[in-house]
Amino acid sequence: MTGRITHWINGKPWDGVAERTGEVYDPATGKVSGRVDFASQSEVDSAVAAAAAAFPAWRDASLAKRSNVLFKFRELLAARKDDLAAIVTAEHGKVLDDAAGEVQRALEAVEFACGIPHLLKGGFSENVSTKVDVYSIQQPLGVVAVISPFNFPAMVPLWFIPNAIACGNAVVLKPSEKDPSAAVFIAELWAEAGLPDGVLNVLHGDKVAVDGLLEHRTVKAVSFVGSTPIARYVYETGTKHGKRVQALGGAKNHMVVLPDADLDLAADAAVSAGFGSAGERCMAISVVVAVDPIGDELVEKISSRMAGLHIGDGRRTGCEMGPLVTRAHRDRVESYVEAGVASGATLAVDGRGHPVDGAAEGFWLGPTLFDNVGTDMSIYTDEIFGPVLSVMRARSYDEALELVNSNPYGNGTAIFTNDGGAARRFQNEVEVGMVGVNVPIPVPVGYYSFGGWKDSLFGDTHAYGTHGIHFFTRSKVVTNRWLDPSHGGVNLGFPRNI
Ligand code: NAD
Repeated sequence: MTGRITHWINGKPWDGVAERTGEVYDPATGKVSGRVDFASQSEVDSAVAAAAAAFPAWRDASLAKRSNVLFKFRELLAARKDDLAAIVTAEHGKVLDDAAGEVQRALEAVEFACGIPHLLKGGFSENVSTKVDVYSIQQPLGVVAVISPFNFPAMVPLWFIPNAIACGNAVVLKPSEKDPSAAVFIAELWAEAGLPDGVLNVLHGDKVAVDGLLEHRTVKAVSFVGSTPIARYVYETGTKHGKRVQALGGAKNHMVVLPDADLDLAADAAVSAGFGSAGERCMAISVVVAVDPIGDELVEKISSRMAGLHIGDGRRTGCEMGPLVTRAHRDRVESYVEAGVASGATLAVDGRGHPVDGAAEGFWLGPTLFDNVGTDMSIYTDEIFGPVLSVMRARSYDEALELVNSNPYGNGTAIFTNDGGAARRFQNEVEVGMVGVNVPIPVPVGYYSFGGWKDSLFGDTHAYGTHGIHFFTRSKVVTNRWLDPSHGGVNLGFPRNI
């Protein structure tokens, strides 16, 4: 039995017949679990038209009305957290605890947007000149598009949607075609929360849908999250068509371990940040930089922890790491294990033989650890996005820093040390957008903003938090002079009692 997954346009499921569809898998069984409709230009036009029609009334809805919908959505999402987590696990494969954690982080972004009346307050200056006042207002952009990746099918759309609609915009979401059901569930919850029809639409599909949105005259802004080549393409194409674009790309996150660090803490962190969610996180640690002389001891501690990792169907109790998202992605990641061996890295732990608690046809690959990795090897230069962790050796803090700063990506990084001075120097000198000190995955809380540097972000605005409010509004400054007839001014015919 496989279900149909279709677009959500103007407050209801689309009732047309798709020209193209795609298969959706349960990665833990390897079986097709659904078929998703792929949008053609005509469905892109319908979704954008629904959003454009809903926009004026939503823009003019009071802040109280908008925040009411947000509070209701927050309650519904909290109440249905386990249902959404189960949907994520069924199509993505990550273990249920991890999926619930994803929804929890999404809730933070919703809670932030509930404060929209405060967040949209502008500035006011009285008497900038005699009887002249100036104030600023933040106005919505109109129809905005959100294009999201497979690895956080609930959280990443909800990094953007709450702020976008709280600011008064109407949204077209194009989620990943690999795990599209979470987006539909989220749209249904918004409808239940009282969001008017058309303010949020979900359009499924691939490049055709993305290009349709990037080139559409009515779409004013695009928030994209995905791999670096596509992020660059989306940024260039969207801006060429006159849109405001923020495009968050891929990553190669380094964790520097100084000799004075607590090595047990560092090894635990490397394992959870390297292999959690099967390494399919843009904030996953993919390179551990061991500063002399602790390399051998650290590799030993990481290896021994990896042996005990429980790999299997994310719905089963006790599983710590699930399958990869598709067979093709599993095969690609596995090919990096072969490439690492061929390039001369030391294969400290080979994940290919790791025991699996799940169906034989699932897209499994156990955790792999390489040591003595060099900067010219493809396991270092490429974003693998799977359970393959590399250890590199550095002779000093400066050499470790140079390694991190020379990498073209700059999403997240961490330093493990007990030296406050070294940590402070690192946070100051490292060219990366998000930094953890003894914290391996430093994803900012909902009232800060998320974003990398260099090839990990195209555009200048990060996701959610105050950057999100900035991205989804444009500011207007009003200069005001009201003449006062009782003090010799000219009566311009305006009512006197306002
Ligand atoms: P992806 O780039 O393949 O796909 C992202 C989105 O772009 C999807 O909606 C997809 O349908 C669309 N897309 C794919 N190919 C396209 C094309 N040729 N033209 C137009 N649109 C296209 O990414 P993915 O595999 O879904 O997700 C994993 C990637 O996302 C990793 O590189 C990861 O680092 C990155 N990521 C980054 C962040 C961040 O915040 N920086 C967060 C999560 C994931």
